[in-house]
Amino acid sequence: VKARGRGFFSFYDASLNASNALHSELAARFRPAIQDGEFCLHFQPKLTLDTLQIVGLEALVRWQHPDHGLIFPGDFIPLAEEQDFIAPLGRWIIDAVCRQLAQWRADGVPLVPVAINVSARQLRDERLLEDFLGALALHGIAPELIEIELTESSLIEDAELAQRNLDALAGAGIRMALDDFGTGFSGLSRLKQFPIHTVKIDRSFIRDIRNDTNDAVIVASTISLAHNLGLTVVAEGVETRDQLVHLKAAGCDQVQGFYLQRPCAAAQIAPLLHKQFLS
Ligand code: C2E
Ligand code: CA
Ligand code: CA
Ligand code: CA
Repeated sequence: VKARGRGFFSFYDASLNASNALHSELAARFRPAIQDGEFCLHFQPKLTLDTLQIVGLEALVRWQHPDHGLIFPGDFIPLAEEQDFIAPLGRWIIDAVCRQLAQWRADGVPLVPVAINVSARQLRDERLLEDFLGALALHGIAPELIEIELTESSLIEDAELAQRNLDALAGAGIRMALDDFGTGFSGLSRLKQFPIHTVKIDRSFIRDIRNDTNDAVIVASTISLAHNLGLTVVAEGVETRDQLVHLKAAGCDQVQGFYLQRPCAAAQIAPLLHKQFLS
């Protein structure tokens, strides 16, 4: 687990005792937090580089904690995985995304696919397919409106179990994206064994793309290899206009990042979708 700079607090900076006490406190509140509606979703658009139209959204979970304020997922997802809470939290997230899509549809908002991050533990949960199909049916949502984002490292151990789940989900019409690409160890060709449609290049390669020749070469090669394999390429963490221009010249398909749109509440997304489909 890498330390994160922008969380409200970091388990890895704090003294060990304080950190352990905080862990226990947060873990004890996980289940009541679901019942009390303390988790919420923010959504970050993915834009096509051709026209800068929104072609998808990524759901990102947050925890509005009564004492600690807004907590970012880097500060509780690893703990949720460790404490056997990721399955119930994951189910809440899947249901909340489908419920939001149904709400937007009822409000007449033009829909785009929403990506859900699925962690390593969830990928090995026997109930994962059932969780997705149940939520889709309950809210009357087509599987094409859901995408799963998974990381390379989550595919390495227990690959058979993950593969069975992913094949079943892909068979049901749900698309898959490989997240944080370039930070793991596998090559793209090995990943052809998994039903992946999209590759998301990790933001660590985008940050210095204008000055770091290695990063620029890695990004260019990833785009070319992915395209040769018939995959769509998304660049994550685009923070400047220069990065956007570079990625467009490199032939990248989609972009996501603070320069385009920060993650925000559903109420702020609806007008963006309305506006672009009217224009
Ligand atoms: P991720 O899937 O790689 O998500 C992208 C993260 O980068 C998000 O942080 C997003 O807010 C942030 N980001 C987006 N654009 C920019 C940018 O231009 N610059 C910078 N510096 N950051 C940007 P967030 O929401 O804190 O999520 C962190 C990680 O937590 C996610 O990384 C994902 O691994 C995990 N996560 C988030 N939501 C969920 C969820 O619902 N389920 C699971 N299992 N994991 C989640
Ligand atoms: Ca993601
Ligand atoms: Ca990512
Ligand atoms: Ca990441």
